[in-house]
Amino acid sequence: MAIQEQELSGPWQPPVRVIGSRRRRRTVQARLRSGVLEVLVPESMPERERLRWAGIMRARIERQLQRAQPTDNRLEERAQALNRRIFGGRLRWNSVSFAEQGRRWGSCSYTAGVVRISHRAAKLPSWVLDYLLVHELAHLEHADHGPAFWELVMRFPMAERARGYLMAIDHGFGEGEGEEETLRP
Ligand SMILES: [Zn+2]
Repeated sequence: MAIQEQELSGPWQPPVRVIGSRRRRRTVQARLRSGVLEVLVPESMPERERLRWAGIMRARIERQLQRAQPTDNRLEERAQALNRRIFGGRLRWNSVSFAEQGRRWGSCSYTAGVVRISHRAAKLPSWVLDYLLVHELAHLEHADHGPAFWELVMRFPMAERARGYLMAIDHGFGEGEGEEETLRP
């Protein structure tokens, strides 16, 4: 086994270890081990190819990590897209971010224009996360849960279904692996 480490360009820059294996013939594999990106390549692979594959695998794993943990930036982007789609682009806010919310899924400070979404919502299917955003964003116009508020929220086509989804989780049902796939429309 030959081991080499090198720097890679890109937004996510883990230490990279390219490992050449004599037993490996054609396939390239990558894994993240204690923060180090290990790229397993055939021993015979030339230096330039190894570098190319290290770059490809870094980008691939970075995408997987981004999907697994939506960041505040992605939340902000989703909120802007929903603002255009559901609210005609008229909403304004100061911040939309993930935060510790206890048992709540989210909250909205009407006066400060601050929308917070629970960290645990990061693992929800994207359409349920979008519902939470629509719900909290609608509170920027209506602080209460009156008819005008619900009329706004129901413009989001999956609103009823997402409410049911969240209620099921709140009651201890529907938790666990696989629910995202079975319930995704
Ligand atoms: Zn509410």
